[in-house]
Amino acid sequence: MITQLNTDRTLNSKAPAAQPSPVLEYLQQLHTEFAPVKDGKVATYIPELAKANPDWFGISLVTTNGTSYEVGDSRQQFTIQSISKPFVYGLALEDHGRPHVISKVGMEPTGDAFNSISLEPGTGRPRNPMINAGAIATSSLVVGKTAQGRLRRVVEMMSRYAGRDLSLDNEVYRSESETGHRNRAIGHMLRNFDILTTDPIPSVELYFKQCSVSVTAHDLAVMAATLANRGVNPITKQQAIRGEYVESVLSVMGSCGMYDYAGEWIYTIGMPAKSGVAGGIIAVLPGQLGVAVFSPPLDARGNSVRGIKVCDALSRHCDLHILNRPNPGETAIRLKCTGAELSSNRIRTPEESQVLHQGGSRIHLYQLQGNLHFATAETIVHDVMSNLDGIQHLILDFKKVLTVNESACRLLHEVLLKFAALDRIILFTHADHLPLLRRYMKVKLGTRYSELFRSVPENDLALEWSENRIIESSLPTRKDDRPVTRGHYELFKNFSANDLIAIAPLLQRRTYQQGETIINAGDDADELYFLARGGVSVFVPLEGGGRKRLATFTRGMVFGEMAVIDRAPRSAMIVADTEVTCDVLSTANFDGLGTTHPELKIKLLENLCLVLCRRLRMVNRKLSVFD
Ligand code: GLN
Repeated sequence: MITQLNTDRTLNSKAPAAQPSPVLEYLQQLHTEFAPVKDGKVATYIPELAKANPDWFGISLVTTNGTSYEVGDSRQQFTIQSISKPFVYGLALEDHGRPHVISKVGMEPTGDAFNSISLEPGTGRPRNPMINAGAIATSSLVVGKTAQGRLRRVVEMMSRYAGRDLSLDNEVYRSESETGHRNRAIGHMLRNFDILTTDPIPSVELYFKQCSVSVTAHDLAVMAATLANRGVNPITKQQAIRGEYVESVLSVMGSCGMYDYAGEWIYTIGMPAKSGVAGGIIAVLPGQLGVAVFSPPLDARGNSVRGIKVCDALSRHCDLHILNRPNPGETAIRLKCTGAELSSNRIRTPEESQVLHQGGSRIHLYQLQGNLHFATAETIVHDVMSNLDGIQHLILDFKKVLTVNESACRLLHEVLLKFAALDRIILFTHADHLPLLRRYMKVKLGTRYSELFRSVPENDLALEWSENRIIESSLPTRKDDRPVTRGHYELFKNFSANDLIAIAPLLQRRTYQQGETIINAGDDADELYFLARGGVSVFVPLEGGGRKRLATFTRGMVFGEMAVIDRAPRSAMIVADTEVTCDVLSTANFDGLGTTHPELKIKLLENLCLVLCRRLRMVNRKLSVFD
């Protein structure tokens, strides 16, 4: 059986439906390569397990994006056995917290077999939760009023990991309970050392039952991927364990999960893992994927022979060793530019443009991306600190940032304080999807929060705000509220006094209140606007709701001009930023100029060409910055 489940990410609709992915074909190759291996023996010490078919062989791989691949007997049911141990350990951590759990069970590898009867000298603690002694002590920690209630919590917890309702294989449970004298002996030994403080038998029975939960290789791969995904099942998105405990679960899997083979396993294969005597193995690559193999024949240490071979091949071929990870920091800064290279969408007067031509280079925009943690945030901080002299305004754009953790927040907070001490400013844009960042700054900045943590919805507004500061500090502020004379309109630049007199009767003066919509997207285009007083902004509606500002115009400029050329319905919306006065030229009057004053119409069109050229150049420059 070859199946590939889930997701349109791998199966794009244009590909022929029957084409398997290369990942699936690779797993199939591994299956074909190792199926003939006949080494190892099916476990017989639990009589029910001896019934397993030694040829059963299934492989499943699930990524943290929720893509699932499986080959062979990946849907054959078998009992989870010792693979239950790390999951129950996680539940005990959630129930009691680390200090109490650690007081009962250690975290040192033993180098002994899974069922060794040995406890730490002195404390009497089992050395780790992956050997039976530690697992039975762990099961005793599961909270619940009755034995049934405790079992229910264990099965529900595993079901969250697997993303389906799991249940017990009662035959295997009975078989193990009838023959499990050694585990009972371990239970009594734990009682003797006061690691268990009540009758040990109910805890041993719970342990037998958790081992008898019936799963498939696919279930186990989803469970492993849930651990890789910080406790969130990547397919159902359900939280199976609190994220903060995942590292503890994976640590004991890494150091002790393969019993007396654990050292060699982490050395060669390099992923936290766990095996069970029914023939299952899981391996976890944190942040990336979970793998599960099912094949009942075991080696002398009780690990699946084919399971180890598959994991070994996968790790080598796909570079999955956890200690061999690529440098994540290189990619945290997606692009950098200055305010001289990228300006806001506010159209500036020539005088202002001159100021920004020089001073714009003191505005720096960093577009960040990916997951910000210590190593990635460090590269950002290092870069900012080495350019500190040249930066007056720093805009940090978080649009493409997926997550930030606390250590990244700490570094950003430190930089913010340094900037504040030097009287420089950081603006955070597109950061609304990162509530931790805001919370962290709120707590750390206290009363200075609203003054220092400047969060702005988009880069354009942050750029404009920074540009305005730079212009204010260089140019004397002139608050001129009077309408400009018509000779100042950019479209009437080279008009003579007579030209202006000729066109005057064709213009209609209008005023708009602040916030009023002057043009709506979709409107018929039958007017051209000359801005005499005030400012307007151009917005386009965004697909997911909301709107984006494309440009801002001030006195003397023209807007609504494109539609006069192609007469297409309005594509954007124009809103008055302040009280606004306009002179409006209707398209009918514009057309009429062709017969009454053809030379005026030519001048108007020439000037319009120049305006459009200027605007097009600006757009081109912006595009080139983002390339
Ligand atoms: N139930 C089994 C036992 O304790 C589990 C052991 C295992 O999977 N290694 O004997």
